[in-house]
This record gives sequence, structure tokens and C-alpha cells, in this order.
Amino acid sequence: MQPLLTISDRAATMKPSASIAAKKIVADLQAAGHQIVDLTIGEPDIATPAHIIDGAISAMRAGATHYTASAGEPALRRAIAAAIEREKGLACGPDNIVVGCGAKQLIFEAFAATLNPGDEVIIPAPYWVSYPDIAFLHGGRPVIVRCGQDAGFKLTPAMLEAAITPRTRWLVLNSPNNPTGAVYSREEIGKIAEVLHRHPHVWVMTDEIYEHLCYDGARAPSLVEVAPFLFERALVINGTSKAYAMTGWRIGYAAGPKPLIDVIVKMISQSTTCASSVGQAAALVALTGDQACVGEATAMYRARRDRMLAILADAPGLDLYSPSGAFYLYVGVSGLLGRTTPAGKLIETDLDFSLYLLEEAKVAVLDGGAYGLSPFLRLSFAASPAAVEAGSRAIVAACKALIGQPGLAAITAQAAASEDVVNG
Ligand code: PLP
Repeated sequence: MQPLLTISDRAATMKPSASIAAKKIVADLQAAGHQIVDLTIGEPDIATPAHIIDGAISAMRAGATHYTASAGEPALRRAIAAAIEREKGLACGPDNIVVGCGAKQLIFEAFAATLNPGDEVIIPAPYWVSYPDIAFLHGGRPVIVRCGQDAGFKLTPAMLEAAITPRTRWLVLNSPNNPTGAVYSREEIGKIAEVLHRHPHVWVMTDEIYEHLCYDGARAPSLVEVAPFLFERALVINGTSKAYAMTGWRIGYAAGPKPLIDVIVKMISQSTTCASSVGQAAALVALTGDQACVGEATAMYRARRDRMLAILADAPGLDLYSPSGAFYLYVGVSGLLGRTTPAGKLIETDLDFSLYLLEEAKVAVLDGGAYGLSPFLRLSFAASPAAVEAGSRAIVAACKALIGQPGLAAITAQAAASEDVVNG
């Protein structure tokens, strides 16, 4: 007989990461022989730049194969602190820095270290899928503030003011944003800072993991750079995953006041001990080496974004806008709800729409419900150019089929034509 497994109430209620679940569904379908164009991916399709890989190999040969300090290698922490001081004009030393196994671990440990049951975490929606569940897992109460398209998907000072209570522990701000690509301007950030000034018990977690991926001259100013007084109650989250195509190396870092950093380090010492020594050596090369790769990657994503938008402009019923940062389109689909698919299914929600695309157009995308704001779809343009091309064309055909224009046959032909280029 199977032994009884007792799962904690919190683990049972927590949802798995929607983006990681989608990745698995696509991989399983592909393994079963289905030709699926994957536009769910939240990571660069390109390889880590060669000089970073070479640096990691040299470091391994030189013996960087042992545990490191739980806070991270001193040289890496010094380099991160120096970059923050240089770029954001803040007095920041290595004691203000902790390195973790990806930004995700640092968000996890920060909530583990600071939340007591019932503490509130303000999370503007749409949000990165993991914030509410990580807060919840640690006894926090996610307070979701819906920031619609009319607000540019951004939190306004009035929305923030209305959400703050005596139980508020954290505000989570993410700019450039996943999933919308929205970037807060200096002025917008300044107004948020004014509200926080009036509420000294509220700490702010600013997730800047897409900081370098900005387009059309946009720059994503950091809250702590616009309002340095907030650094004493802020945790700045960043990492090498997105800008340097290093998702698999699992290196993230956080900057904040020493007492908060110290308690996060204590949590790491009892969980992962430290981030990978080899990953840290690679991160040091990434952050201190030639930065041309970041500019090249940004230009490449911008070209993919523009191509995706150009193709999707032909899709009836989609609500498009051009994101200023990150590598996702958050496409409104309210104009197509209530339609019936060629196979006879009624599309009532964005989830129905994403399933229609998966089943009939063979394109995998994520529904806005996973990000806390419907009805939208998140399309990744970090996918390969072939996937961007084939996936966008198939979506256009699927939208046409929904409004009764010839389309479904075209979808099938598109999917077949894209088989060679998209899989693998
Ligand atoms: N924050 C945001 C907004 C993200 O989109 C992601 C990854 O998708 C992360 C954090 C986690 O990144 P990492 O790979 O450093 O754990």
C-alpha cells in the first residue's frame, strides 16, 4: 500500500509557476511528436556570450569549485556594489549585497525572512506569476491592485495610497515589467516614492531583472535612484538571467540595508548554503566584462518585437501596443471573446483563447489570468525568429478564423510549414 503523504496546507494551496508549467506542457507535446510553436518562453533563446563561458571554464580550472560564502563571493559582491554606486549614485558596499540562486531565490528568502502571518504584500497586477504564491507560502497576504491598460499597466499613487494599511509589509514594484513590458518613468517613480514617504512602515521590493532590456530610448530608473531615502527600506532585486542570457547558471543578487541582507544570508545558509561557485565566477565576468553583448541582445529583441507587432497588426480583434522593455507582448483579446472556434467551442475567457491557439493553431502562449489581469495573452519575443514569425502568423490566421474569415486552413498550412524551423 502506498504510504500516506501529508502535504502542508500552504504547499497544497500554492499554485505551480504558470510559466514553468506551460514549458512542461509544450515539452511533453513536442516529445509526443506534436509540432508546437512555443511563445511561452521567459528566457533568451540565445547562448550565454562566449567570453562569459570562457571565464567560467578558467575559474573552474583555477579551483572555483567549492562552497562560497553564503552571501556570495566577495569579489562579485564588490563588483555589484560598485555598479550600483556608479549607475544609481547610491552609497553601497559589499555588506549591502547578497547573491542567490537566481533572483527568484532572493525574493523567496526575503519574504521568508520578513513576513509574519497576515502581513500584507501589495502586488500590482499584471504581475510576474511567482510573487503572490511566494508571499502566500510564507504566511503573507497578497493584496492585488489591478493596473489596467488605461493606466498603462502601472500602479498610480492613488492606487497605492488606497492599498496601504497598517498591516502592509511590502510593496513589490517591477519595471520593466513582466508580462507587459511597461517601464515607469522617473516622474511616475517619484510620485510612488512620495506616497511611500508618508508610510514609513512600508518596505519596497524593486525587481529590476529586465533593467537593461529597454527599447526606443527608454530607460528604467530605479526607485532607489530617484528617491535615495528609500534605500534604507528597499530590496533591489536583479540578476544575470535575462540581460546576459544566463538563466541556467542561476545567479541573482539583491541590494538593501545590511540588517535585511544579513537575515537573507542566514536563510541562504540554511537552505542552499550559497549560489554555485561556477555561476558566480561567470556572473563576475558578465558584470565586469565587455557589455557589448547586452546592447546586441537588446537590438535583437527590439527587432523581434517589431516583427511580431508588424505581423499581428493583421489580426482582427487583437488590442496591441508596443512594450518599452522586457521581451513580452501583453495582447488584449476582449474583442474576440464570445466567438466560436471553427471546431465549435465558445471562447469565453483568455484561457479558452490560449487553449484554442494551442489545440487548433499549434501555438503555445500564456493567458492573462496567470498574471492577474484578463483578458490578455502574453506572447514572448525572446523565442527564436522562426518561432516569432510562424507563431505570429498562426495567431493572425486563428483570429481571422474566429470572425469567419478564411483562416483555419491557413493555420494548418502555417503549422506544417513551420515544423522544420520551430522545433528543437
Ligand atoms: N523577476 C521577474 C520579473 C522575472 O520575470 C523572473 C524570471 O522570469 C525572475 C524575477 C526570476 O529570475 P531568475 O532567473 O534570476 O530567478
